[in-house]
Amino acid sequence: MTFITIRRTIALALIVTFSAGGVRAGEALSPERQEARAIFKELIEYRTVAGVADTTINAANAMADRLKAAGFPDRDVQVLSHKAGLGMLVVRYRGDGRAGKKPILLMAHLDVVDALKDDWSLDPFKLTERDGYFYGRGTGDNKGGAAALVATFLRFKAEGYVPDRDLIIVLTADEETTAGSIKWLLKKKRKLVDSEYALNTDSGGGARRGDMPISFSMQASEKTYITFVARFRNAGGHSSVPVADNAIYHLAAALGRLSAHRFPAKMNEVTRAFFAEQAKLSEGETSEAMADVAGPNPTLQALDLLSEDSYFNALLRTTCVATMLQAGHAENALPQMAQATINCRMLPDSDAESIEATLREVLDDPTLELEVSYPPTFGPSSPLRDDVLAAVRLAVDARYPGLAIVPDMSTGATDGLYVRNAGIPTYGVAGLFGDIDDGRAHGRDERVGVEDFYAAVEHWEILLKALTSGAEQ
Ligand SMILES: [Zn+2]
Repeated sequence: MTFITIRRTIALALIVTFSAGGVRAGEALSPERQEARAIFKELIEYRTVAGVADTTINAANAMADRLKAAGFPDRDVQVLSHKAGLGMLVVRYRGDGRAGKKPILLMAHLDVVDALKDDWSLDPFKLTERDGYFYGRGTGDNKGGAAALVATFLRFKAEGYVPDRDLIIVLTADEETTAGSIKWLLKKKRKLVDSEYALNTDSGGGARRGDMPISFSMQASEKTYITFVARFRNAGGHSSVPVADNAIYHLAAALGRLSAHRFPAKMNEVTRAFFAEQAKLSEGETSEAMADVAGPNPTLQALDLLSEDSYFNALLRTTCVATMLQAGHAENALPQMAQATINCRMLPDSDAESIEATLREVLDDPTLELEVSYPPTFGPSSPLRDDVLAAVRLAVDARYPGLAIVPDMSTGATDGLYVRNAGIPTYGVAGLFGDIDDGRAHGRDERVGVEDFYAAVEHWEILLKALTSGAEQ
């Protein structure tokens, strides 16, 4: 998860009242907050990075122990492993079934991108509280989310809360790398996680600039990842006798054409809703262009204006970009091979064949060899649901009354993609707020606000009660 990057927005927050609330220095934490903090600390201090065996298993077991100690039966708390050295947790909170509906799946991941102690100004695998922030690898992505879910189940259990359907937490072990855990669960243990829909702590969430809240994003769609290799081969020869037919020149010319190409813009329900909400938060011609593209017939002028912004451009269309090069074998030889890796992020409703056909057309060279090196997994956009929106509204209002909720399509991908692919609509509704000018996920000195963390736990409590207390939505 990374906090959404919204540019050229003028905060409507100017008219949104903001109460800081929370705990002042020196004030004792409530027992609920102490417990949430302890869970958070415990998770941060496992170095759950790819290649370090058993750390995700240990983290999953630590959470399982807490849940069992609180009274969850063994059969409802399962630590599973799809691959040696990796462990994931699946926990079922039983409802009384009065809703007559399938469970709601709640998602987070235990693994993190590695962090080197020397790069950081403090130990990335210790939870450090300093100047109003919690520092540590995974505080934002995504152990804050994992801790919030576990803390919420423990709170519900302690107060004897009975939801009207089952709730299932899944904490996966490899979201940052292969997403093997979630794929395996959906394929081999479908019954354990089968749900009406999923809520993901690893995407969406609140954006603030300084103290000023800007918007809350609800991720309902993700672009699809696909990678191609474009290759040119040549007989080669001695570099002292150059020939015009040179593999590197073929490749360079083809990439020049790619750099000038723009895939056609295409809107979907989620991006239309995104731009409609963003239009209200922006001003001037940007606002007008956003309202335009949110409408039934986007104009070319509006699309062109928004496409100047790399983030909006990525929302409007499929993109393909050269990311790696490999060519030649000796400095005094003509190249026998030149190839580029081209990474594409497809709109959720596009298909790989048409992207490949377009690439061939754009690269436009009869000697081109084009192959897919990383095949796509498709996840359709999730239909915007009124019940989920209403519950998110309640949770957001508890902290920032009236703050805009903006449906969103991620330009990257999370475990949510595979859940959507398996036919379970998925919504990224992380409870965390972060400063849009202070994105540190995967980076150095990752941190979340102390009050933001506690508020995120409360966000899940409100959200899940709104969805499962039997009240009509
Ligand atoms: Zn993440």
